Amino acid sequence: MAWYKQLHWRILTGLGLGLIYGIVAATMGWGEFTNDWVAPWGTIFVNLLKLIAVPLVLASLSTGVASLSDLTQLSRMGGKTIVLYIVTTLIAVLIGIVLVNLTQPGKNVPAELRDRLQSSYQSDVAERTSQAQKTQSQGPLQPIVDIVPSNLVEAASDNRNMLQIVFVAILFGIGLIQVARTKAQPMIDLLHTLNDVTIRIVDIIMLMAPLGVFALIAKTITSVAGGESGSNLLELLGALGLYCLTVIAGLAIHAFLTYPLLLRAMSPMKFLTFLKGIGPVQLLAFSTSSSSATLPLNMERCEEKLGVSEEVCSFVLPLGATINMDGTALYQAVAAVFISQALGMELTWAQQGMIVFTSVLASIGTPAVPSAGSVMLIVILESIGVPPSGIALILGVDRFLDMMRTVVNVTGDAMVSVIIAAGEGQLKPPHLSEEEDRIRTHF
Ligand code: ASP
Repeated sequence: MAWYKQLHWRILTGLGLGLIYGIVAATMGWGEFTNDWVAPWGTIFVNLLKLIAVPLVLASLSTGVASLSDLTQLSRMGGKTIVLYIVTTLIAVLIGIVLVNLTQPGKNVPAELRDRLQSSYQSDVAERTSQAQKTQSQGPLQPIVDIVPSNLVEAASDNRNMLQIVFVAILFGIGLIQVARTKAQPMIDLLHTLNDVTIRIVDIIMLMAPLGVFALIAKTITSVAGGESGSNLLELLGALGLYCLTVIAGLAIHAFLTYPLLLRAMSPMKFLTFLKGIGPVQLLAFSTSSSSATLPLNMERCEEKLGVSEEVCSFVLPLGATINMDGTALYQAVAAVFISQALGMELTWAQQGMIVFTSVLASIGTPAVPSAGSVMLIVILESIGVPPSGIALILGVDRFLDMMRTVVNVTGDAMVSVIIAAGEGQLKPPHLSEEEDRIRTHF
């Protein structure tokens, strides 16, 4: 079964079977069985992926920095990366704002459904509001303070602190450059080995991908479908269908128009080659709804299949997983306008401008984990004076949109890594062979 050796087919198989099982389980009321016996495999899979993210970033980024001959290259690369991340996010938000103004999805939400949703999602809203308040009560420089850890072990103990790890790795790499080469070499060799080992571990974890993805999808479907009865679900889809379509159309335009155009303008890579290389990354992002869980695979694929150098991958991708969320920003802008419309509030152009600005900022501050985008949405709503309880309207369909926007988030990171590598002369011809995704010979 040669096809099964290709990673994207293995993930797709898990996805398809998980979907079928999820629908059967939801109809048959197997929620408890699924929670007890199926869902844990998904948790194990995601935990494994998160487990290697920190050592991978530490090892690859510090060796990457240590191999640079001078630090101007690093700062040039850093500057270009951040500009590209902000520009692509801004384009995404503008696409979202234009679309939502054209489709006006909030205008046809029945008042009765609106009130019912607000009361049934009350506790969810309260939880997210208190999370959002923590962010809001901080001073303006807090995001910068957060990048600098006071304790290495603490920084490495929570994957949400990925920027702290990036900071430590760069600092460590710079330190390595300053030490005499003969002394630094054993440490560099050790880090190289650690990097190679973690990359191989990604392959081992991917052996579990079909089962992990099956479990994640099965759990998502049973818990979403279990929460709403069939007729409620249809009513919800009727009222929120246009909103979902607007988000999905925006994401599609960004992924299939903005990205190919940018790739074409700024790199020699064909969009199809790019898609072929990162297809499994997108499927994994869809299944896990988490850019940080997808990071190790994204790093492996960009390096091995797209030919992006280790230096560029190890710098651009962890940074992107944390701060570059085009899909999330687009969704936040559409959702903010949708909620205002549904609550009967007409937004002025100034308020829409504020949405654009805050969506870009909020997406930078959104942690790369499931549902985080909807928490940061509260900050955006408050900035334009819309009651945050309005997010109750969209929570019923949020999980699915989370899966979709995470795909765009990781695609944007990979695309920027290709462009940066092309600009730095660090893009090797991609070696997409027929045997792509073969499980390496050691297995
Ligand atoms: N799940 C998204 C991510 O990890 C963040 C979000 O939009 O909720 O990229």
